[in-house]
Amino acid sequence: MPSSPARVRRAEVRANTILSPGMRRVTLGGDDLLAYPTTGSPDEYVRLFFPDAAGAEPRLPRVVGRGWEFDAGIAPSPMRTYTVRAHRPGEIDIDFVRHAGGLAAEWAEGARLGAPLGVSEPFAQYTPAASATRITLVADATALPAVERIIEAAPPGTRIRLFCEVADPRDARLPAAAAHTDAVSATWVHRSGNGRFASRVADIVLRAELATDGSESVWVAGEAAMTRRVRRHLRHTLRFPADKTHVVGYWTDNEAAWRARFDALGAEHRARLDTLYGAYADATEAGREAVLDEIYALYDSVGL
Ligand SMILES: Cc1cc2nc3c(=O)[nH]c(=O)nc-3n(C[C@H](O)[C@H](O)[C@H](O)COP(=O)(O)OP(=O)(O)OC[C@H]3O[C@@H](n4cnc5c(N)ncnc54)[C@H](O)[C@@H]3O)c2cc1C
Repeated sequence: MPSSPARVRRAEVRANTILSPGMRRVTLGGDDLLAYPTTGSPDEYVRLFFPDAAGAEPRLPRVVGRGWEFDAGIAPSPMRTYTVRAHRPGEIDIDFVRHAGGLAAEWAEGARLGAPLGVSEPFAQYTPAASATRITLVADATALPAVERIIEAAPPGTRIRLFCEVADPRDARLPAAAAHTDAVSATWVHRSGNGRFASRVADIVLRAELATDGSESVWVAGEAAMTRRVRRHLRHTLRFPADKTHVVGYWTDNEAAWRARFDALGAEHRARLDTLYGAYADATEAGREAVLDEIYALYDSVGL
């Protein structure tokens, strides 16, 4: 059966629960999610399109390739990216980190039953390497929903090591699947990172023993400076196999300050970055890492 064209759907809040001091779960459903697809990728993510005010209708864009477009004259709705924590027929769960000053986080705090939200199709990211017998996961709270799905989806017998920083010890959470196996070990770094404390998880990962012989894969997601540090260690210190490495920056701490530093860059750096961003977009998956090396080297040199 041909799949229906990708579109942004109108979802409604079905439940809204506090999971822990730092995490809230919003269940989305409604007629438009009845045949909502899943990619099956454990860290699949969606674009969420928010209304201007709680309970108001969000303006929904048209899908164009992997992006989207609003009709001429329509003001774009604010968009944020979130992991699909769970997919059930007609419903998905999204786990929102609770933090101050965030449009999405604040929407989730106040979202009442029936409140509408735009939801894109899910996008796949990570394909676990079949040949790896151990997976190391490095995360902060934003990446816990994906961590939980990766653990749930791992083939029996896979050894999983988690290094995760949380602001509050009560935010440390593993899925029920992890309780029945000693194949999952977790190192929780409390009162660390997450926009509230200095981030310490990368220091711990830098001291951990990692197998570079292809038997181990490493998945890293969370705040951008933390993920960049771990990536640099994997790629440049350890020469970790690229096909066993998956690193994604999910958010930027104190983004306004980062943006101000970016906006203050001179014309030469801006032009160089534009060229590199273009090269990244055009590169093959394998070629992208080398372009990222150049982008991050430039970021490091100008304090970004
Ligand atoms: C593929 C992918 C999957 C993601 N999955 C999830 C997920 O499942 N759950 C989740 O909570 N997040 C997830 N994120 C991260 C989320 O998109 C960002 O945290 C986003 O910026 C939150 O939007 P906001 O409107 O709340 O804050 P924004 O309006 O974007 O930011 C406002 C301010 O809050 C700060 N800020 C942003 N996020 C945080 C945070 N988590 N903690 C503390 N300060 C913050 C910013 O630095 C900025 O100063 C994911 C990101 C990606 C790319």
